[in-house]
Amino acid sequence: MLSITHLNKTYSNGVKALVDVSLDIPTGMFGLLGPNGAGKSSLMRTIATLQPPDSGSVICDDIDVLKTPDRLREQLGYLPQDFGTYPRITPLELLDHLAVLKGVGPANHRRAAVEQLLVQTNLWEVRKRRIDSFSGGMRQRFGIAQALLGNPRLIIVDEPTAGLDPTERRRFHNLLAHIGEQVIVILSTHIVDDVADLCPRMAIMGAGRVLLTGDPTQLLATLQGRLWTRVGDEKEQTSFSSTGSLISSRLAAGRRWLRVRADASPDAGFAAVDATLEDVYFATLIDNNIAESAS
Ligand code: ADP
Repeated sequence: MLSITHLNKTYSNGVKALVDVSLDIPTGMFGLLGPNGAGKSSLMRTIATLQPPDSGSVICDDIDVLKTPDRLREQLGYLPQDFGTYPRITPLELLDHLAVLKGVGPANHRRAAVEQLLVQTNLWEVRKRRIDSFSGGMRQRFGIAQALLGNPRLIIVDEPTAGLDPTERRRFHNLLAHIGEQVIVILSTHIVDDVADLCPRMAIMGAGRVLLTGDPTQLLATLQGRLWTRVGDEKEQTSFSSTGSLISSRLAAGRRWLRVRADASPDAGFAAVDATLEDVYFATLIDNNIAESAS
């Protein structure tokens, strides 16, 4: 269990990136959802011991992360948002190099671990190809391979599926789901479907705060029977939006579909719809006066 309590962080420019953040994160996949600027990366960097908070605590099982960061680093796999590699190097060479840096040894164990990770992330066939020729999905799978070196107990992945095509994304999801069976995996993302597909526990962040946390199925239940849809025009969109009842408006086949939250059908034209996690996400941002893209 990873226990985060009362974390605060204000940057030197005055931006409050973390405001009294508390979360309990059990083994398995945990989705951290929020718009750009919500504070997700600040939280991930704090947990990964890359930046200290102003106050608060982070405890991972028996490790006090802020007091003994080296102990956490031995147990941590981190795939940052801007994961870079070296030009002209192959995955086999780079993974071996990173394994040496991470202290995975002796040499025969290291080789076996590197080879097993390349197989697990489906990169075995391309192990001797240059990484700078890889597709986005292959690079991200390599990122996971390096994060898994040394059998970490805690894995943090920051916006891992941005820019991946649907096939690559599905393959990456399967890989994460498999890993999440044994360890804590924190998946930070602004892509709601990543969390909907993968995470039995989640939190929504906005403006540095935890706005909502729980099990996606239970969170969905809070909107059940209270969501209505119909085609509408821009004027109606503005009108529902001004009362705070508009959850979203989306074009489909050239028509504008409004999704509105209300205890009863707002008018005869509306039909009841099942809530999705995206509805929960938008409703939470609206209730907290947070724009979808805050930065
Ligand atoms: P997210 O990952 O959810 O997009 P971030 O943690 O990156 O959010 O950013 C939270 C807020 O802190 C944003 O307003 C961002 O501009 C600001 N911020 C992030 N890093 C720094 C920094 N090093 N110095 C100053 N402000 C920062």
